[in-house]
Amino acid sequence: QQGYISLLGEAKASRLVFVVYPFQGHINRMLQLATFLHSKGFSITIMHPQFNSPNPSYHPEFTFIPVTDNLSESKLLPGDLLGDIKVLNKICQLPFELCMKKMLEKEDRDNPISCVIYDVLMHCAQTVANRLKLPGIALRTSAAATILSYFAVFPNPLEQGFGSLLDSMAEEFSTELQSLKLKELHASIKTEYPPDAVLELRAIITSAIKDSSAIIINTMSYLEREALTKIQDIFNASIFPVGPFHKLAPTASNSLLQEDRSCISWLDKQTPKSVLYVSFGSIVSMTEDELLEVAWGLANSELPFLWVLRPGLVRGSDLLEPLPEIFKKRVEERGCIVEWAPQQDLLAHSAVGGFWTHCGWNSTLESICEGVPMLCRPFFGDQFLNVRYVCHLWRVGLELEELEREKIVKAIRKLMVDGEGEEVRQRAVEFKDKAKLCQIEGGSSYCSLNDLAEHISSY
Ligand code: UDP
Repeated sequence: QQGYISLLGEAKASRLVFVVYPFQGHINRMLQLATFLHSKGFSITIMHPQFNSPNPSYHPEFTFIPVTDNLSESKLLPGDLLGDIKVLNKICQLPFELCMKKMLEKEDRDNPISCVIYDVLMHCAQTVANRLKLPGIALRTSAAATILSYFAVFPNPLEQGFGSLLDSMAEEFSTELQSLKLKELHASIKTEYPPDAVLELRAIITSAIKDSSAIIINTMSYLEREALTKIQDIFNASIFPVGPFHKLAPTASNSLLQEDRSCISWLDKQTPKSVLYVSFGSIVSMTEDELLEVAWGLANSELPFLWVLRPGLVRGSDLLEPLPEIFKKRVEERGCIVEWAPQQDLLAHSAVGGFWTHCGWNSTLESICEGVPMLCRPFFGDQFLNVRYVCHLWRVGLELEELEREKIVKAIRKLMVDGEGEEVRQRAVEFKDKAKLCQIEGGSSYCSLNDLAEHISSY
């Protein structure tokens, strides 16, 4: 962390326009990168939909511009990824373009707009950048391999039309990516969306990335070396793997839910590496039956646990209601439940010895950076890809195949205490050390950040 601060030297005082995709895992990462670039001398404008607006008072150094005022929450359903992306891009494109035009008209000569940095899910920003002849930089907050898997499904989106899903899978994937079994992965991902709709979105995103002049990815080279090389081969843009973003500016987060910090004092009373931290991120939801299996799995594991029961986690139910009284007793003896936790602090706490996660990319990187081995149970989308990485390629976690209480108990004990899990626990520590090396002077992310700032200054 220390190392990053002094490396970049004088950057040109140009203005960077960031375009936010307004969900938890995306907002924070973009603000963290923006905070870092601001510290290097760039001025920052954050354009965002009014839905889930970031709180400008946390960042008085930035200019915040809401790009639409006619978006009601009812049109967006957290978890309906495809629908949300479609609605947001449709509604935001025109107001975004008008805003940009206004900004360009009264542009400050000492502070010119040099580029638009957009979350790839807000792909309309690249269309606007093209029209205004500004460089667009695509920002991917998930694994680099997701860019590749979109491309693999659809190498030439515009020429091929929105046809067959698996036929167009590239066959020439190298060993590392083959081991992720991308083809099988796509077949196994259950989606309620019609395949054509999924393909159309992937094609549009791939097309935007093809038009971008650079790609910033929240990853570290040692995690995805081969995927990054492939991306470099495929796209003309310069690639900057500068992750993990959460270490760039750890305090620059903008939590949409109130963090309950009382769990830290509970953790302080536990013995080192004894607690299983359990959280399924900000979007996942489950049935009441699934919740009960999780609860009994935790209780019967006989190990201490800290569980995030977020409002909305259980579909159509008040959270604690379905939990039986006897389980609540176990919580009093050995557990702690909160609605939303300061996750990064928890993972860094010496009492936490394992993380049961849905394998969202942010949670995955946060866990790797603190050397915490993972128990993985994916629910949708790229979480399946991340589980392949964590459990089969990096081997810093174990996959939970079924949400069933006996299987949960076995998996938790293997991860946390049984001899069988020792190798995974050991590798998690090695991965933490490697992550640290990326961030210090001369490390891959450190160098990539330096290159990124120079690249932007050259526009
Ligand atoms: N998070 C948090 N407190 C919680 C649960 C999650 O701060 O109680 C944060 C977590 O640190 C991560 C983000 O929410 O940065 C979740 O992102 P991820 O990509 O893991 O999953 P998503 O929510 O996008 O499914």
